[in-house]
Amino acid sequence: MGRIHVLEDLVANQIAAGEVVERPAAAVKELIENAIDAGAKKIQVIAKDGGLTLLEVQDDGSGIAPEDVKLAFLRHATSKLRNLGDLSKLRSLGFRGEALPSIAAISKVTLRTRIADAEEGVQVRFEAGQLVEQTPVGCPKGTRVTVQDLFYNTPARLKFVRSLQTENAHIVDVVARAAMARPDLSFRVQIDEREALHTLGDGSAFSAFTAIQGRNLAKAALWLSLTSPDYALAGLIVAPEFARKSRSDMWFAVNGRPIRSVALGNAVLAGYSTLVPKGRFPVVAISLSMNPTLIDVNVHPSKTEVRFSEERDVCALLTEAVKQTLEKGVASPIVQSLQQDTA
Ligand code: ADP
Ligand code: MG
Repeated sequence: MGRIHVLEDLVANQIAAGEVVERPAAAVKELIENAIDAGAKKIQVIAKDGGLTLLEVQDDGSGIAPEDVKLAFLRHATSKLRNLGDLSKLRSLGFRGEALPSIAAISKVTLRTRIADAEEGVQVRFEAGQLVEQTPVGCPKGTRVTVQDLFYNTPARLKFVRSLQTENAHIVDVVARAAMARPDLSFRVQIDEREALHTLGDGSAFSAFTAIQGRNLAKAALWLSLTSPDYALAGLIVAPEFARKSRSDMWFAVNGRPIRSVALGNAVLAGYSTLVPKGRFPVVAISLSMNPTLIDVNVHPSKTEVRFSEERDVCALLTEAVKQTLEKGVASPIVQSLQQDTA
């Protein structure tokens, strides 16, 4: 008698959720990626109790067609790619078709959505991966996903949740990184009834940076911009005296996707050279635009790591950009405009 069997969907999704939703902030990250991919201009995030009792992401994007709503919760169901070739040309943040089924497997999810062409929207409710309700609903165009009682049926995961403050900080961090990567979109985060972040979405990286890092750092920021035939770098780097004790304020985004990269971090440090002492790390927020065929984003389910096919070129360009920016030492127009509006 054979002993191998195929896992039930719920179990498979709960296992996938282990990688995709390691903490409340990871669910937020997936949901805001979906909102961004849907072309939203305004994205609102609400969290209660570290995201454990409530997480909600509302967008004004395309919405989901009524016939697609249930499909969106199926594992490996996606509107973003069809074959492996599409992956190399990917412009969307999502592509794995795992977020909604994973989140739904470990929480109680209500999704309400309406596309522009439909007069009314649809609401579906899932508990532990099971559809428990589907009803027509009046709602604005776009999508709202409400996640209640995250990890309620995965006690092992719940044990790894840290203090509520820590989880809240991660939620704000994940949205702030997305907001920095997309200054053209407005993000608002409300945590336990308090507004924790609000970016205007006016398209200015400086305006996003100011909302996120505060005026003092913004005033000490220099505008970085350098293009080569293959890459365009743009962003803000802060004067060395504001360097921090951890790497966590060196932010990078590639084609609008916030990523983590030790290599890019080291390239920035090389640009600052002796201006920052060893063990200190400057505050930077740098966006890289490049041909998507030169990166692989399918490295890990969380999609925060990428592989560059020409990593050395990217790093050399970044070091050069940082060096030039610090040497020019221009009180950038940014700072001038700031001085004007404080005057
Ligand atoms: P992926 O983003 O990798 O495609 P998800 O599980 O996150 O997988 O979402 C599944 C599908 O549901 C998406 O491909 C998209 O078509 C749809 N979807 C999810 N969230 C939204 C949203 N906020 N607005 C519009 N469509 C959405
Ligand atoms: Mg997604």
